[in-house]
Amino acid sequence: MTDEPELALQGEIALVTGASRGIGRAIALELARQGADVGVNYSASAEAAGAVAAEIRDLGREAVVVQADISDAEAVTAMTKTVSAELGAPTILVNNAGITRDMLAMRMKSDDWHAVVGTNLTGSFLASQSVLRGMLRARKGRIITIGSVIGTVGNAGQANYAAAKAGLAGMTRSLAQELGSRGITVNLVAPGFIQTDITADLSEDVVGAVMQRIPLERLGDPADVAPLVAFLAGPGGAYITGQVIHVDGGMVMA
Ligand code: NAP
Repeated sequence: MTDEPELALQGEIALVTGASRGIGRAIALELARQGADVGVNYSASAEAAGAVAAEIRDLGREAVVVQADISDAEAVTAMTKTVSAELGAPTILVNNAGITRDMLAMRMKSDDWHAVVGTNLTGSFLASQSVLRGMLRARKGRIITIGSVIGTVGNAGQANYAAAKAGLAGMTRSLAQELGSRGITVNLVAPGFIQTDITADLSEDVVGAVMQRIPLERLGDPADVAPLVAFLAGPGGAYITGQVIHVDGGMVMA
């Protein structure tokens, strides 16, 4: 017998896409801290993904590293199969993997459009589809997708990214309606400006302009996003579905 209280996510199996860096890494670690075993997906950064898995094991949880380009349907099926075989069928999916390829619409190449929509939107759909059979069988599941405030308000130079992120809001509401009766909740967490590799190259002017629009007067950190995702994945999120929740220091109030 132990006196330790049971953790909120004890016994849960999470799959986090794009967990090698940035927000996905913070989410994977937070879910592990709260008791979940974690499938750590990445696309190219094998070493970083391995380091995240090692940190999860140091927390006393199980981790499996799975390489997959989430815009590739076959790779996604294989990813979920591997996690299911090693850890068990995922009960929590976090669709986090995402990219930007910014360009004004006049000059945006069709490749830039398709890459961003393929990863951010199609990838999240494919990963959701891949975990559904297990969740439906278990009659429980949590699907949490990382959107963006840009999906709500748009942004010059980001037509591809804004379209993909807005599309995720529609996907979230549709899946929430489809799956509610089966005990599966589906929500979209929409961060504002979070300091990661994605935002590292923006000019001081752009960052300064963004800062002007943040009532809490600071940029966000991955650690500002991860606790909300863990909350939605846990018992506290049981009656929340189909929602878009902004984590943005008050940048967008809608
Ligand atoms: P990041 O630091 O660039 O990390 C992106 C992650 O996604 C990496 O782990 C990367 O894996 C993975 N990834 C990229 N393409 C992939 C693919 N095709 N298949 C599988 N994994 C892939 O970005 P971040 O800032 O943490 O962003 C994470 C999510 O938050 C994205 O959906 C992003 O749109 C969203 N978001 C970010 C911000 C922000 O301000 N940072 C704001 C709003 C929303 P590798 O390491 O292997 O490349």
